Amino acid sequence: MIMSFVQGLDRYFAVLNNDHKAKYLIAKEKSLLDLKIELANNILQSCHFCERRCGVNRLAKEVGYCGVDAISRYASEFLHYGEESELVPSHTIFFIGCTFTCAYCQNWDIANRVVTGTPVLPERMAEIIAMRKYQGAKNVNFVGGEPTPHLHSILRIMNACNINTPMIWNSNMYCSSETMDLLSGVIDIYLADFRYGNDECAEKYSNVKDYWSITTRNFLLAYEDAEVILRHLVLPNHLECCTKPIVEWIAEHIPRIRFNLMFQYAPHYKASQHPELNRRLGYEERRRALEIVRDAGLRNLV
Ligand code: SF4
Repeated sequence: MIMSFVQGLDRYFAVLNNDHKAKYLIAKEKSLLDLKIELANNILQSCHFCERRCGVNRLAKEVGYCGVDAISRYASEFLHYGEESELVPSHTIFFIGCTFTCAYCQNWDIANRVVTGTPVLPERMAEIIAMRKYQGAKNVNFVGGEPTPHLHSILRIMNACNINTPMIWNSNMYCSSETMDLLSGVIDIYLADFRYGNDECAEKYSNVKDYWSITTRNFLLAYEDAEVILRHLVLPNHLECCTKPIVEWIAEHIPRIRFNLMFQYAPHYKASQHPELNRRLGYEERRRALEIVRDAGLRNLV
């Protein structure tokens, strides 16, 4: 774990100029997590936590696509029993704001900041994490919305924690490569969504560009570095364009991950604006999804 932590920093240092390298390399009294926090704060001033790369100075209260300034807020935190069986009870922290705008989002009120939320105080959150662990939590699960805009706060929460518990990054995986480097070595489990099998569907339903190349890059990085549980929410009328290429890519590139094929799609939020998404899955679609998984040879299903 420590080695991958150092390798992650090395990858990040490689893209910094010499002044930055010198500044960080002489900071011998600091821990690696301290350095990651400093690097995250630097990114915050020209934000590229995700691949939208808005370039806004969030420390100066500017906001980019996600609408989040430097202050992280959360909508709720509790022991969640609805996650994958090996993870529950999972101490789940729902951060406000998202880097996607999914037409069918079930957490649209959190993602779109309709819920204003409680400001995150890292030391206080670390106390809450310790309390939840005492209550039986098997892990800490950072989600939203999306955790990516809150990387700087999450690293500070980790730094303030004085208990040993697995850290879960529950994400759409549209993180920048710099964010993936900062996560390297501090995340134990990536609980990752694989939503679309092509860029056209991703742009149409989540308003996001270059989805396939960015997320598959990040799945490979996560796979090198930690445990991965991949979730695919099967969408109605998207078996051949999305489910099939996703399953086949996983089988070819990262076959040993745990794979959760999810059938619980429901037409939330603005799904009614897309007639092809405005219903639940049918029996034949579930049968076909299972057939695609079987034909690809994926075995490690959740
Ligand atoms: S985290 Fe938010 S502000 Fe930063 S690049 Fe992504 S969308 Fe833009």
